[in-house]
Amino acid sequence: MQVSPDNLIRRITSYAPKADLDMVRLAFDFAADAHQGQKRLSGEPYITHPLRAAEILAEMKLPVTIIIAGLLHDVPEDTHVTLEDIRKNFGEDVACIVEGITKLGKIKYRGIDRYVENLRKMFVAMASDVRVVLVKFADRIHNLETLASVPPAKRLRIALESLEIYAPIANRLGMNEIKSRIEDLAFKYALPKEYEWVSGLATQAIRVKKGYIEKIKSEIEKDLRKAHIPYSEIQGRVKHIYSLYQKLLKYERDILKIHDFIALRVLVPNIGDCYAALGIIHQRWKPLPNRIKDYIAQPKPNGYQSLHTTVFCDGGEIVEFQIRTVQMHDEAERGIAAHWGYDEGGKQASKAAEKQLAWVKELAERQERIKSVDDYLDSLDSLKIDVFQNRIFVFTPQGDVIDLPEGATPVDFAYAIHTQIGNTCTGARINDHIVALDAALSSGDVCEIICDKNRKSPNPDWISFVKTGTARNHIRAGARSKLSSWMKDIAAEEGQAAAKPTARKRQSK
Ligand code: MN
Repeated sequence: MQVSPDNLIRRITSYAPKADLDMVRLAFDFAADAHQGQKRLSGEPYITHPLRAAEILAEMKLPVTIIIAGLLHDVPEDTHVTLEDIRKNFGEDVACIVEGITKLGKIKYRGIDRYVENLRKMFVAMASDVRVVLVKFADRIHNLETLASVPPAKRLRIALESLEIYAPIANRLGMNEIKSRIEDLAFKYALPKEYEWVSGLATQAIRVKKGYIEKIKSEIEKDLRKAHIPYSEIQGRVKHIYSLYQKLLKYERDILKIHDFIALRVLVPNIGDCYAALGIIHQRWKPLPNRIKDYIAQPKPNGYQSLHTTVFCDGGEIVEFQIRTVQMHDEAERGIAAHWGYDEGGKQASKAAEKQLAWVKELAERQERIKSVDDYLDSLDSLKIDVFQNRIFVFTPQGDVIDLPEGATPVDFAYAIHTQIGNTCTGARINDHIVALDAALSSGDVCEIICDKNRKSPNPDWISFVKTGTARNHIRAGARSKLSSWMKDIAAEEGQAAAKPTARKRQSK
């Protein structure tokens, strides 16, 4: 079977015509040579795998350095060719990415430890070079695409790992398209019966709703034209299978209760047009109360921007609209990948991407400090909560945004600002109202912490309501230091006692 890089080259040319295509061809030949004679479990030549991974990276419109690393990603691990050979032929930058992927591949543990190790390695890789993780996503997507030829036990492990580690991380990096792909591919193998049920429901619902959505779409097009609001595109977007499944679980498995299964997405040139389009939609159809969300003024922590509204359409049907600029749409689908220039190597992500990665760095640092397996397990909960829970964003009185998990309290907020503020907090104001320290914060709240400088350590009872690992760790540390000072007192007393040993002995006998 002849495997050729033509499709890959075509794809790169479509977005980066000036890219060094000779280098890409060279990397393909180099990898094909190294993997010569090796086969995938499907029976195909091994080179089909790195090639497909590189194609997925090109679909993400990434710079060629990353694509070349994609072509070479399994070479040092699986062939006689070394990382040194790669460095000599393709340079330091490519070699670094490939090295990162090789390191990620070596997971020693099994079971829960494997999970934690995996997660931890992903964070460390992300914090040092996020390009490694992008290649890993492409690698994983092709492995999921060909999962049918893998033995069942391993199949399930890969599928679950994808749902629990890879997809949430893609989500956190704002890469909606990649996240959805990973989830839908993995869902099929992780929960086959549920997958069949949901995809059946979805097919049916699309059949029923399609005509109606088309009608609504043409009505809104007419209105926008009449009001001279330019729009680039209106799409009917269908919720992807796995996120539909998660929503079904929340709504008694009843698809009639899910209003955003098909949503209408209005793409316009600039921000002003977004709000104008929202007004036009609300003029024709009445919005449901409390369902208007302005993620443009207050983006989600992963950077997502859009206006959402849910309206009563003709015939009482409920339809969700998502309004955003073309650029916001691109960023929502590609996330951090949208922040790389097409042509340059892109070692440095843009400022926006840097900000997005700040939380990763912090997590990686915390993970670095974890020493033993017991420590791992201890931290697992808080780690999972911090990363994978839905996030809210709360403002300081100065207007800084603090990113917290859902249900977070003023104590979590205080510790997220500074340890000292957490340790000395005695009260809080949310939107100018005094609240208890265990009050739940909501997105958009302005929270002010009241501190008492004389307070020495946190209240151990706070542990029962805080939601972040950071707060929990500080409260525990505070309790520990209290304990140790109490123990020091005892030790001091004993020391005094030890100074008069004879008296003591006599007493005890
Ligand atoms: Mn691979």
